[in-house]
Amino acid sequence: MSASLRLSAEVLELRTRHPFIIARGGQSEYRTVWVRLTDADGREGWGEAAATKFYGETAETVLAALNIYAAHMPKDAFDLEEGERSWELALRGNPAARVALSTALHDLAAQRAGVPLHRLWGLDAARAPQSTFTIGIDTNEKMQAKVREAAAYPILKVKLGTDRDVEILRALRAVTDREIRVDANCAWTARQAIRMLPVLEEFGVTVLEQPVAPTDLDGFAVVRQRSNIPIIADESCKTAADIPALVGKADGINIKLAKCGSLREAIRMVAVARTHHLQVMLGCMIESSIAITAAAHLAPLVDIVDLDGAALLSNDPFKGASIDGGQLTLPTGPGLGVTRR
Ligand code: MG
Repeated sequence: MSASLRLSAEVLELRTRHPFIIARGGQSEYRTVWVRLTDADGREGWGEAAATKFYGETAETVLAALNIYAAHMPKDAFDLEEGERSWELALRGNPAARVALSTALHDLAAQRAGVPLHRLWGLDAARAPQSTFTIGIDTNEKMQAKVREAAAYPILKVKLGTDRDVEILRALRAVTDREIRVDANCAWTARQAIRMLPVLEEFGVTVLEQPVAPTDLDGFAVVRQRSNIPIIADESCKTAADIPALVGKADGINIKLAKCGSLREAIRMVAVARTHHLQVMLGCMIESSIAITAAAHLAPLVDIVDLDGAALLSNDPFKGASIDGGQLTLPTGPGLGVTRR
């Protein structure tokens, strides 16, 4: 371990207000890992690893990976590129663990520069799009109640991928005129997705996320060909290297820090997507305000924002970026700008 940057990690037990269910299941309790890097002056940079089993990580694998990364700490907080590179070389994969370190390092660098993180990147907070608020799968009545509870949010993202998707949309449309985007989380075949397209249009759905399985890029292509609604790749797109194969098959990509493993990689993904004329969405996992705020600092670069991971919690230990009423507000203090609640 470097003498100049000290790493510590602690597991956070997060609870959602409602069980958070998507097509492949869900729960009410989520364990993430809070990472702190302390520099020689005692300044702390914070990051969070939102490990998900779907992408091969748990809080335990994150802690084990951090033990390895601890031996590869950069000497200086501004060694952002070198730091991220050395972690990836030390142990590939483990993107949630790596992005927690990347976030903590960026927090320290921006604190030392005395600017909010997005200013370090030259971004204007006013350009951040509104965030959606997600309605997880439940009975029609409970989903309707969640829509009412989320009255302050002008854009809803509805999780589908059940055997009663049409019913769910009809039930929600009965209680709201607000914009609805849909995320099928890989649950449909291309044929099912094509059958759903006129239904989605009928209910005024404006965005369709990940209709088919992660590796079914041909499925993406045929669905997109028949769709008037933009199709966004989420589970099919983890890092910039996944983007070229999606060109012509999806209208956009969903960047998540816990998939891509570094803040610099997230920015590279924006550049690669733009080069290919793809829309850029910024999403999240169920995670506290640390990871949400890290992503929020990137929001001025993207078209679609879905950063409700902390807003869905009943016990977020931190305060940072907020999405009250869908309006994304970035911290104005130096660094990440996250504090304890
Ligand atoms: Mg998604």
